Amino acid sequence: ETMISMAQVEKWYGSFQALHDINMTVRSGERIVLCGPSGSGKSTLIRCINHLETYQKGEIRVGGIVLSDQAKTIDAIRREVGMVFQQFNLFPHLTVLQNCMLAPMKAIGVGRAEAEERARGLLERVKILEQADKYPVQLSGGQQQRVAIARALCMRPKVMLFDEPTSALDPEMVKEVLDTMIALADEGMTMICVTHEMGFARQVADRVIFMASGAIVEEAPPAEFFTNP
Ligand code: ADP
Ligand code: ADP
Repeated sequence: ETMISMAQVEKWYGSFQALHDINMTVRSGERIVLCGPSGSGKSTLIRCINHLETYQKGEIRVGGIVLSDQAKTIDAIRREVGMVFQQFNLFPHLTVLQNCMLAPMKAIGVGRAEAEERARGLLERVKILEQADKYPVQLSGGQQQRVAIARALCMRPKVMLFDEPTSALDPEMVKEVLDTMIALADEGMTMICVTHEMGFARQVADRVIFMASGAIVEEAPPAEFFTNP
């Protein structure tokens, strides 16, 4: 079953072309690692998938829905696609628990009690439930990022997109976030991860996709990828 497909996608920022003829299919349950040099378009590519960026040509489908500029479509896509950023993007004035409850309540009308139950369950899953009543500033970067993952999961997405989720972390906190992502992968979540963590790629990825200058230039299972010069 195809979860995401991108066909002949082209994207410009003004006169600068950031994506060139992107063709990519991701099956349900597949784990993709996207890598490549800074500025090669990795972030732009995944941001197009949940319509944080628009694209000018081609077609993107997520779970059978064709992305368009219609608000209804964008809302539908954002429910299906969870995203985790390099900067954790938690609301500073909300507690950890409130951060996780907000989106399900606002975006899909989940009641308060059920939102709290979901949030507590997911905070437990990312091993941070004991921090539920703290504010983001009271947490380490690694803890904040795990909260950001739990928050995205509270929408029960079918796909998770990660944009360099460990790049802003102190080295000693990278492992706890990667371990959370590995657990998610083991549960069968469809994932696209932009990351420089090649150990993670080797362990988790079904395919590694390499980008350069806005195009996909290579695609292989990690074992093949890392032995080819
Ligand atoms: P990566 O994630 O691989 O580092 P990006 O997708 O962030 O690459 O950026 C790809 C290219 O698009 C870069 O040259 C970058 O400068 C450019 N770019 C990214 N965002 C914008 C923007 N909002 N406006 C103009 N150019 C942008
Ligand atoms: P990333 O590689 O994670 O996208 P960047 O530092 O490249 O991070 O980009 C940070 C923000 O600046 C993004 O919102 C991106 O769209 C924007 N940006 C990046 N390059 C440019 C550019 N050349 N012109 C305008 N905005 C840009």
